[in-house]
Amino acid sequence: MTANTSEARCAIVTGGSRGIGRAVALALARQGWNLCISYLGNTAAAEQTLELVREAGAQALAVQADAASQADTRRLFAQADQTFGRLDALVNNAGVVGGVRSILDADEAHLRGVFEANVLSCFYAAGEAARAMSTQRGGRGGAIVNLSSVAARTGGMPQEAHYAAAKGAVDSLTLALARELAPHGIRVNAVRPGLINTEIHEAHGGQATLDRLAPTVPLARVGSAAEVADVVAFLCGPTSSYVHGTLVDVSGGR
Ligand code: NAP
Repeated sequence: MTANTSEARCAIVTGGSRGIGRAVALALARQGWNLCISYLGNTAAAEQTLELVREAGAQALAVQADAASQADTRRLFAQADQTFGRLDALVNNAGVVGGVRSILDADEAHLRGVFEANVLSCFYAAGEAARAMSTQRGGRGGAIVNLSSVAARTGGMPQEAHYAAAKGAVDSLTLALARELAPHGIRVNAVRPGLINTEIHEAHGGQATLDRLAPTVPLARVGSAAEVADVVAFLCGPTSSYVHGTLVDVSGGR
């Protein structure tokens, strides 16, 4: 990393243009963080997030970067470093469901795409973040929060084994990195949302699916992106200093 140019903490939030990622960026901005968000293709949504976090007082940058590409991820971290000169947290939020597809129709390209977007993305970004934040390399330590899903333990929605299994890998990665990165001053945790009201559910029926499943949640409702974001922001910051290697469900009891 370059020399510190900012007194405020800085976080990178992948997939910060919409949904949970936008809500995380906003929650962190309200707590005084500066933000670098990435997005895949929705520039208008990314600009809207920038507006919201700047209104909340943050300095902010948006970078188009495919989380499934290691080269894009390197460019994302380099741009964040150039702008802010420090990194205190990474939120590995970018992810996709990968549609509904029975195991009977298992397909190599589809599976690779789902695992690249949900799992390899976390490896690439965690690697960059670890290099930047490691106290063994002159960094000041920090936190990594991975967005998993309750699907990792329930098996998920029908015919979405690809998604459930990918999130299971995110859980395992979280536990492994917690062990590996503790000596580097980096805490690693995962948040496992349940049914949260975002556009990701367009992959399997959208609002109709959320309405149908809401009564099956013990709290009898769908959650909001903000309810997930508050927990992610807690795990990024100093008030969670002894929370490490934990998978936190935010699922209304599901
Ligand atoms: P969402 O509303 O669909 O938003 C996805 C975000 O990720 C967008 O900002 C999108 O960018 C970005 N993105 C997708 N693929 C990307 C890629 N390859 N590279 C960079 N950015 C990419 O999703 P969400 O519901 O907020 O979900 C966020 C995370 O929570 C995901 O990991 C998801 O699996 C997890 N989760 C969600 C729920 C839920 O019920 N919503 C439940 C459990 C877990 P663009 O705007 O440019 O497309």
